[in-house]
Amino acid sequence: MASVELRNLVKRYGDVPAVDNVSLRIEHGLLVCLLGPSGCGKTTTLRLIAGFIEPTEGEIQVGDRVVSSPARTLPPEQRKMSMIFQSYALWPHMTVRENVAYGLQLRKMDRATIARKVDAILATMRLEKLAERYPGELSGGQQQRVALARALIVEPETLLLDEPLSNLDANLREEMRFEVRRLHDEYRYTTVYVTHDQSEAMTTADLICVMNAGKIEQTGTPEDIYYRPRSEFVARFIGSSNVVRGKALDADHVEIGGVPLRCTGETPTPGKEVPISVRQHDIRLLTAPPDLLENVVPATVIRQVFLGGSRDYMVELPGGAQLRVVTQAEQSVPPGSAVWLHLPPERCRALAG
Ligand code: ADP
Ligand code: MG
Repeated sequence: MASVELRNLVKRYGDVPAVDNVSLRIEHGLLVCLLGPSGCGKTTTLRLIAGFIEPTEGEIQVGDRVVSSPARTLPPEQRKMSMIFQSYALWPHMTVRENVAYGLQLRKMDRATIARKVDAILATMRLEKLAERYPGELSGGQQQRVALARALIVEPETLLLDEPLSNLDANLREEMRFEVRRLHDEYRYTTVYVTHDQSEAMTTADLICVMNAGKIEQTGTPEDIYYRPRSEFVARFIGSSNVVRGKALDADHVEIGGVPLRCTGETPTPGKEVPISVRQHDIRLLTAPPDLLENVVPATVIRQVFLGGSRDYMVELPGGAQLRVVTQAEQSVPPGSAVWLHLPPERCRALAG
């Protein structure tokens, strides 16, 4: 049982920090996703954890042992970790069975034990019938399962996955997300899963770390990240959010389009400009001004499109800010109409400015 802890981790190439003061503690048995756009430092963080590269500053502790520091880095093969690369990196001249057995042969296990363990994991991964094939004779999804089998057969304490599904087509990618999660639950290792795909992170992770420019912007459960973004970057990256700027009136009211909106989230400083986020489908679009509701802003419909399952509006507030609103498909209001938007207070998030 080993937790993984990153403490003030920095990796610089020249002057540029690829990883910029990252701290994170992952309890044993959790599946944590590093989620962020290309170039934000995900792969570098994973390679630091694996021990392929050394930190410029900071350290990594696994269980009660420091495995990485600028002074000393334990080699990858002594870390009880398996890493799966984006390209899978299967050995092309070895069959599926030989690829999977390789890690155990390195450990000098006897042949009967190796054969038994290989058969078991091939069965788990539904690869029995493909055991004598070469990687070049497999589909992307099958190669991915071989890469997983090869990584899991050595019974790692920690599994590191770098965009493991990015080479698969859309259907298989969805199926394999659940497979990754199922295997994690079955074997109970610690998993660090790198992806730029929000829904992949949401389906697989216990915790998501949203990364931006070498830093962790926010760590939380999928629900936290989705419902309670703390920064504009997280709100925008997780998608389907409007971010508009208003003026903070007091600790929990922000003026948007001339109307004081009650907000949750960060506590803004009165008088300061503050960004707020609200999701497209959390806004109610009304065609008459309601009597009693708070958090109602007048607006004008700019355009709307019918998307089959829903209708997508662009509306403009007094002052010119534009918002996207998703409504039921049946609710059709023509462009130019005056409407009223209800923005539920618990869904209006004041963000860090
Ligand atoms: P991600 O996996 O999130 O796409 P990376 O960790 O691969 O991002 O890269 C983070 C940043 O560090 C990028 O700007 C990348 O160009 C830079 N970088 C990564 N590896 C090296 C390297 N070996 N030498 C120089 N720059 C690097
Ligand atoms: Mg990468």
